[in-house]
Amino acid sequence: MSETIAAAASEALLPTYARFPITLVKGEGSWLWDDAGKRYLDFVSGIAVTNLGHAPKAIKEALVKQLDELWHVSNLFHIPNQADAAKLLTDNSCGDAVFFCNSGAEANEAAMKLARRYQQVVQGNGRYEIITFEQSFHGRTLATLTATGQAKVKEGYAPLPEGFKTLPLNDISVVEGAVSDKTAAIMLELVQAEGGIYAADAAYVKALAELCEKQGILLIIDEIQTGMGRTGKLFAYEHFGIEPDIFTLAKGLGSGFPVGAMVAKEKLRQGFTAGSHGSTFGGTPIATAVVKATIETIVGEGLPARAAEQGDYLISQLRMKLAGASSVQEIRGLGLIVGIQCDGPIGDIVAAAQQRGLLVITAGPNVIRLLPNLLVTNEEIDEAVEILVELLTAP
Ligand SMILES: *Cc1c(COP(=O)(O)O)cnc(C)c1O
Repeated sequence: MSETIAAAASEALLPTYARFPITLVKGEGSWLWDDAGKRYLDFVSGIAVTNLGHAPKAIKEALVKQLDELWHVSNLFHIPNQADAAKLLTDNSCGDAVFFCNSGAEANEAAMKLARRYQQVVQGNGRYEIITFEQSFHGRTLATLTATGQAKVKEGYAPLPEGFKTLPLNDISVVEGAVSDKTAAIMLELVQAEGGIYAADAAYVKALAELCEKQGILLIIDEIQTGMGRTGKLFAYEHFGIEPDIFTLAKGLGSGFPVGAMVAKEKLRQGFTAGSHGSTFGGTPIATAVVKATIETIVGEGLPARAAEQGDYLISQLRMKLAGASSVQEIRGLGLIVGIQCDGPIGDIVAAAQQRGLLVITAGPNVIRLLPNLLVTNEEIDEAVEILVELLTAP
């Protein structure tokens, strides 16, 4: 696409994105090509979406096969792929029942609705309050942006839905002081992603789970960016020795096909009845064919363990080779969600990396975010590290 066509096309779009001056037209594995034929090493993965790389063969085959058979029927009919995909999710997690939707925000909406309805209808206790945390990110709908602990996503959208409270993370006494007989659920990311790649404190997460259990509060874990093997386990909660009542998925769940899911424990099944929630496109035959193939691939090929290994290699290489870089304050991450905390703005570094053929993005102020696919090779990691080291150690 020429620049004039790109500019003209953008004119018909609302300006919700500050786009990089790159038009990507083809992808394979860890690599992308732009409209001029330039090749890029992709350490963005569509923001933790293409966990199996671009155009993964097994997923494409499942998709094409389903496209030949059936695209869409209403959820008023049985959908075998949906039931199979749900079974795969529950067999491989602490959850027992799944609701499919189309995005992360919708998965979190479903989680918050289920939490309130379970408390109000099943428990009959009138609880409604949802507690979330500063620097969190939970989506862009009115309820999920209210849950999000960042002022910038809320500006201009008043009045916001009621019944939300935002607390600082990693201080259990603050939570103890904030919960009441109105608290329905506590929701958090175990590694804050958009907020800057901050893993929650393990002891704190345990204490939080115990507090929830004791007080009848539901624990919701937002696994939309951390799920599907990204952190070195299939789901990040596995690192923390806890079992959430509800967890939410989207990004990596469909390998690039838009789909979301909420997974809940058995007791929550009664929270919804026919008609209490729904989605026209939630869990279509096509979407759930892709989900099935994605889970089968991730679990069958042991990709969470691979992500742990490759993540350790990436982090150790970065730490070793950036040890003397004065602008780098910290390198942190879990599996293949990695952040390089710098001491100032990093827009120029991100742009220079792109120029050099490495795609990276930011996470919060001054953090370079690295999200390679789970099949990334040591050679690809070496190549990315070399570019980053050159840029971050340049005088
Ligand atoms: C991306 C993301 C969301 C929102 O997902 P959408 O599909 O964009 O609605 C919610 N929570 C977390 C942790 C995310 O990373």
